[in-house]
Amino acid sequence: PHSAKRVTVTGAAGQICYSLLFRLAKGDVFGPDQPVILQLLEIPQALPAVRGVVMELEDCAFPLLAGVVVTDDPAVAFRDTDAAFLIGARPRSKGMERRDLLLANAEIFKVQGQALDKAARREARVIVVGNPANTNAAILAANAPGFPTENITAMLRLDHNRALSQFAAKAGVPVGSLDRVAVWGNHSPTMFPDWRFATANGKSLPDLIGDGDWYKSKLIPTVAQRGTAVIEARGASSAASAANAAIDHMRDWFQGTNGRWVSMGVPSDGSYGIPKGLICGVPVTCTPGQYHRVTGLPIDEFARSMLDRTIGELKEELAAIAKS
Ligand code: NDP
Repeated sequence: PHSAKRVTVTGAAGQICYSLLFRLAKGDVFGPDQPVILQLLEIPQALPAVRGVVMELEDCAFPLLAGVVVTDDPAVAFRDTDAAFLIGARPRSKGMERRDLLLANAEIFKVQGQALDKAARREARVIVVGNPANTNAAILAANAPGFPTENITAMLRLDHNRALSQFAAKAGVPVGSLDRVAVWGNHSPTMFPDWRFATANGKSLPDLIGDGDWYKSKLIPTVAQRGTAVIEARGASSAASAANAAIDHMRDWFQGTNGRWVSMGVPSDGSYGIPKGLICGVPVTCTPGQYHRVTGLPIDEFARSMLDRTIGELKEELAAIAKS
């Protein structure tokens, strides 16, 4: 039997984790033969609620769940970890400016970066979901100088999955027939869902849909505003779909995508005019344990303007923190 993988999850009492943890324990990331030990981090006042979630995990009698640790100490949560899902973040509260939110989260991710640096296995793979996810991931990396930066990523997969689903519906094809969709940039309404290379059953998706106006005036804003639309309809933010996207991201990273493109926020290598130091959504393929940027894609004028806008936002977020 495999030895258990240690999986750190922060914000364990929150909405996203109420879906995420059960799927992790079921084997949705590492497969049906890989036991997991969950190492759950929360702020002290949320620890009683985490204990309730742990009771429910116990009541599922998951055969793969080899242990659960509950703590408010990041050093304990990150100890010897193989995979980390950083979900917890400071939500925007009334009267809070965007800058205050950035700064509050920068402090959280600084502390967690230091703990990651000290306690995690160097092979650990990290996804940041808590918003502003890309910038939080950059702060995490900056505070973990001894930890491989390429193992720190941010979640663009929900935007990617949202785009896939809209494309499939418009083209009248199954989601699984689509490939080579890319979402670039920040996990925010400025993200750029790029259909130029997309295929359905190997044929050009833009040709199949044949409606460039729909793409620019409907698809892009629909994906950008999808989170808000869910909040309006449900009265609460998207949690199950966010958890599902985090599962997809980590499963693909650990198990590979067989050549299929997915979108991940990864530390920039300077390609496509994305400055180093940013953690930016790009198209990648994965082989088990590694992501590989899709390189050499042409960037036309529209793509350049969309990319520049979302890169500009990422730069501003980091600059606002640097100035403090
Ligand atoms: P959720 O579980 O709903 O969301 C957690 C984070 O994920 C938020 O920052 C949220 O951003 C973000 N997120 C990213 N993408 C999405 C998406 N598409 N849809 C929804 N959310 C998305 O938040 P809760 O408030 O229910 O729970 C957060 C928990 O984290 C709390 O229990 C809190 O105590 C904890 N926490 C833990 C910390 C720690 O472990 N040290 C530090 C800070 C908080 P957005 O706010 O923009 O929706």
